[in-house]
Amino acid sequence: MTALDLSLPAASAADAAPQAKSLIGLTREGLRAALIESGLVDEKKARMRADQLWRWIYHYGVTDFADMTDVGKELRGRLAERFTLARPELADKQVSNDGTVKFLIRFAPGVEAESVFIPDVGKAGALCVSSQVGCTLNCTFCHTGTQALVRNLTAEEIVAQVMVARDHLEEWPTSNENRRLTNIVFMGMGEPLYNLDQVDNAIAVIADGDGLSISRRRITVSTAGVVPKIPELGERTSAMLAISLHATNDDLRNELVPLNKKYPIAELFAAIRAYPGLGNARRVTFEYVMLKGVNDSEAEAKALVQLLKGVPAKINLIPFNPWPDSPYECSDWDTIEAFAEVLNRGGYASPIRTPRGRDILAACGQLRSESKKLRASERRKAEQDAANPG
Ligand code: SAH
Repeated sequence: MTALDLSLPAASAADAAPQAKSLIGLTREGLRAALIESGLVDEKKARMRADQLWRWIYHYGVTDFADMTDVGKELRGRLAERFTLARPELADKQVSNDGTVKFLIRFAPGVEAESVFIPDVGKAGALCVSSQVGCTLNCTFCHTGTQALVRNLTAEEIVAQVMVARDHLEEWPTSNENRRLTNIVFMGMGEPLYNLDQVDNAIAVIADGDGLSISRRRITVSTAGVVPKIPELGERTSAMLAISLHATNDDLRNELVPLNKKYPIAELFAAIRAYPGLGNARRVTFEYVMLKGVNDSEAEAKALVQLLKGVPAKINLIPFNPWPDSPYECSDWDTIEAFAEVLNRGGYASPIRTPRGRDILAACGQLRSESKKLRASERRKAEQDAANPG
């Protein structure tokens, strides 16, 4: 290649004006650092300014610096030149006939993930957020598992999912009464414990009482069982723990959740029992997907009761949600009820999760985006195409 090839894409990209950075999703520390780095706020005042902006961003949900009425007009103008309060692009929004809403969010060209708002869960409603685009785990019954990992989401991108949902619900400023969005579950795409640093930062923003103010007791992180990260999750985030169990013996679990080969059931339960703060008011949620003829026998229900002995637990029985070409069927309703009955007699609350949002592929395990991991050259091209449409 000649050194004088001026048609190289990199040259035109370098000439373009630097894009204004969105402040959405930053932690307090990140916000302070961004203000200092911009040179608009001197270091001594940075904490005060960051706290001021924080409230506007996360309590009031403003999308325009002009609305920040206690910030001087000149500074507001300069902030608006350097930064934005833009949310990531909402590529699609679908509303199920049961009120479930699925958001497809485009974080960057070709990097899309879904989040799902489910009304009438928890005190009022839960938002199911994604922590990765795609997944590495390949659980055989999960649609997301058929999509290769594209990348981890950043804390900003995780928080942005909450901001988008709150925009949709028009729940600004943050209120303490009559909220529709009260709970956050990390049960969307990806394995949160493979992205713990970002999940931890996102939880710090979401739980902050001066902002989105969703308390850590109402934030649940679900894992397929990344055992070495489980204690860390508890110590760093104080979030509620959920475990995608789905089988009571290693042979079957190896098949359904291949991660089990690395961290078998005995090791998983040792980590669960040691999770900080467990008690009757803070139980572990076990998710158990009901697969016809695979894991739904009465003997397995009894084995589950044995396995959970001494663990403060509740069990969510999830009727299998089919997806295109999925290799399983959902257990019959009678079978699911009989399974639940054994658990109830064993002393465990085991609500059967009514499938929500199935008609729009928004139910557990149905999430998948078209995003693929691109080579660097393909990614640059996609970014350029997005910057210069048409
Ligand atoms: N990787 C984490 C977070 C994803 S949670 C984890 O595995 O816990 C998504 C939940 O939906 C998990 O409990 C998963 O086992 C369940 N799930 C996946 N596919 C499903 C399907 N087709 N039907 C019902 N539930 C499913």
